[in-house]
Amino acid sequence: MARPASSCTQKPTLQFSWPGSGKQTCHVFITQVGPQLIDLITALWFGFVGACVGSFLNVVAYRMPLGLSVVWQPSRCPNCKRPIRPYDNVPILGWLWLRGRCRDCQAPISPRYAVVETVVGAVFFLLAYGEVFSGGLNLHRGPLTDLTGAWHTVWNPYWPLLVTYAVHVTLMALLTVLVLFSLDEMSAPRRFIGVAVALLAGAAIAAPGVWRHAVLAPGVDEPQLAGALVVLALGAAPGASLAWMSRRRAAKRSALKSPAAAEQFNAAIAVMLLGMVVGLRGLATATLPGLAALALFAAQRGRSGARRAALSAAVWIAALVQILFWRPLIDWLWS
Ligand SMILES: [Zn+2]
Repeated sequence: MARPASSCTQKPTLQFSWPGSGKQTCHVFITQVGPQLIDLITALWFGFVGACVGSFLNVVAYRMPLGLSVVWQPSRCPNCKRPIRPYDNVPILGWLWLRGRCRDCQAPISPRYAVVETVVGAVFFLLAYGEVFSGGLNLHRGPLTDLTGAWHTVWNPYWPLLVTYAVHVTLMALLTVLVLFSLDEMSAPRRFIGVAVALLAGAAIAAPGVWRHAVLAPGVDEPQLAGALVVLALGAAPGASLAWMSRRRAAKRSALKSPAAAEQFNAAIAVMLLGMVVGLRGLATATLPGLAALALFAAQRGRSGARRAALSAAVWIAALVQILFWRPLIDWLWS
């Protein structure tokens, strides 16, 4: 079948053309390829920031259970204790160009550091596209704006969107640390839980509007401060109860320090933090991807990582899916 030769159906191309003849190409570049390039560069920048955050989370997961300061000490090689040079501390790349070994003593550095940096960087990258550049299309009461693309949302900042993004990547960062605690067979320290709850509650106080997507009552559109805090507290309740029950059960069996008890507790805390951000209905919706992830891990029982952190990793995946597909999931399940 012959297609009409319309310029609108042309794919954007980057081709060299002589001045005068290239008007069309130039137009296509500016209106289509240009914004996509700005999006990509911006998303890569967000991803780099995410990798740096991942690098910090590695430090948090390593030092917090030991009661060390997470901020006021430079990174050191755990083997020879020499400080890591700033240029070797670049996320992902540092590990790659050292080939996973300490520059001073050649002791192997676990690939886990680079993996965590990559995963957190990828989350920042994905959510930049799914949440920011889309104008909040993923959100329960989205989109927040008709403007799309990095140019209109980031470089000319649209703050409601950027603050929402900040809250959601913070949640994913906190859940990442919980998975790392589980991999290390440790319960989340109280200090970590305190900081996590304070961060999210602080965000709800500073930007209650972000919690409008978590509101259960259909009439409430823009929760004020009290409303956001109620939504946050209600969402926290199931996870907090689970955490309390898991502690009680472990204490009865005097197994508070067992890896299984630690993992159950960490997963319950993850459910609590997720509920604080997505609310009760979001939490109910997230059980679906959560169960799917658990089934996936169950199929990999042989792997020690899947055994040690399956529950908290399932909550991590459920949280990412819930945030990325918040509106379609809720529309599909609840309407
Ligand atoms: Zn060393």
